[in-house]
Amino acid sequence: MKTHKNLFIFSLSLFTFSAFAESAKQDSSLPPVVTPGVYGNPNKVGKAPSDAIVLFDGTNFNLWESTKGGEVKWKLIDGAMEVVRGTGTIQTKKKLGYGQYHVEWRTPDEVKGSGQGRGNSGFFPLGGPEVQVLDSYKNSTYSHGQAGSIYNRYPPLVNACRAPGVWQTYDVIVHAPVQDKEGKYIRKSAYTVLHNGVLIQDNMEVGGSKGKTGNLRLQDHGNPVRYRNIWHRPYRDPLPMKK
Ligand code: MG
Repeated sequence: MKTHKNLFIFSLSLFTFSAFAESAKQDSSLPPVVTPGVYGNPNKVGKAPSDAIVLFDGTNFNLWESTKGGEVKWKLIDGAMEVVRGTGTIQTKKKLGYGQYHVEWRTPDEVKGSGQGRGNSGFFPLGGPEVQVLDSYKNSTYSHGQAGSIYNRYPPLVNACRAPGVWQTYDVIVHAPVQDKEGKYIRKSAYTVLHNGVLIQDNMEVGGSKGKTGNLRLQDHGNPVRYRNIWHRPYRDPLPMKK
């Protein structure tokens, strides 16, 4: 019994020591160290950076639910999730905030339909507005409804869409609203979007003026669009500017 107790105290002090050593290494005047991930490409799935909240790693729907309530009825296929027509839009169980969102998506390789009916889905950080997911490769539709548009508001700056059946990426930075020194809101929340690494939305105002959180949603628009490697990095306050 005594040996167990000593062992316990020894382990506890080892733990305390390593926790101390860990915190001693961190200097709060310096940016935290992050191990970068690997960027996904048409041939290989990406990997999240070390400080990201991984929302979907291709193996299960544990962190997701139907927006109608209950389990996700979409299917898991080849390390991705695929929309099953008519089963409804899905969302993260948890509400998330401002910061960086990343997703890989692909429209069906078998081209069916045209315009808005071709590979339509959608990516809704904080519940919306929608960053449109669509097969916009040699498929014309209205500009504020094509891939990378902030749906029904802003067309993308350029069309950086890859071909049907080819994996693509979105990085969506959701900027917090801006307050002046008196705390008055002077700018609404905004999206910056990169499509396959190309800037397509540059700090476009979208949201309400107050701080908020919301569920990340993925749309069932009736087409078997796939998603994989979904992660989020919450907003960080910047370190002070040099005096
Ligand atoms: Mg859509």
